[in-house]
Amino acid sequence: MRKKYIIGNWKMNMPLEKAVLFMNKFLKLPTNMDPEVGIAPSYTEISKLVELSKGCNIRIGAQNFSHHETGAYTGDVSVSMLKEHGVSFSLVGHSERRIHNQESDASVNSKIKIALKHDIQPVLCIGENEEIKKAGLTISYICNQIKKGIDGLTRQDIQKLIIAYEPVWAIGSGYTATPKDTQNLHLEIRAYLSDLYSSDVGKQIPILYGGSVNAKNSDKLLSEPDIDGLLVGGASLDPKEFYAIITSGMKKNTNTKT
Ligand code: PEP
Repeated sequence: MRKKYIIGNWKMNMPLEKAVLFMNKFLKLPTNMDPEVGIAPSYTEISKLVELSKGCNIRIGAQNFSHHETGAYTGDVSVSMLKEHGVSFSLVGHSERRIHNQESDASVNSKIKIALKHDIQPVLCIGENEEIKKAGLTISYICNQIKKGIDGLTRQDIQKLIIAYEPVWAIGSGYTATPKDTQNLHLEIRAYLSDLYSSDVGKQIPILYGGSVNAKNSDKLLSEPDIDGLLVGGASLDPKEFYAIITSGMKKNTNTKT
């Protein structure tokens, strides 16, 4: 049985004052949150959010970290530093980092290995751009991203991973992949992981969808048996909207199919 996850990616949009206001409003909403809920704020908000979220089920994560463990890397933040501040998961290889920071599959792979070593759950982000989609190359492209991202991971390691399928053309664009297309793609990802590892791994690994999710489309996406949750950007900045997305996951947190 796979759990549902709803993760908010705040990107560089929430200064401390706004983040505290969000949490104060959000924590007043009913607390029986069945899906696992996570928020990935900027580094500078992490400590305060960890403090505010004590006693509730919200996990605080990071959006990124260095692919080095320690050393002379000015401006970088290591995974062990995040751990010290109470972070329990991190996005890895978000398309905005791949595009704007030239993050390579090799660096994504190093980050996943370092995260696992320090007991931080990696959320591996993959997804094709419009050109690749139009060329009909989506599946081979994302399978290649997965293959390179998880290179060298054992069967035990891979079971700690979350995959987030986020088509680049859907991020921040207002266009969402259809629930059916996403369902089929997630099945392809499961089949690929089954071939690489085992059918158990293919069945167990949580696969989330991200890309212009909001409270209007979340319900249909989460109704698909192989969409195990959502990675939400813009719509996670508003506590009521984010909460409404979470409640659409509440009804469907016992996903057993595949
Ligand atoms: C994201 O960047 O992870 C994302 C899903 O953004 P949005 O929901 O705004 O498309």
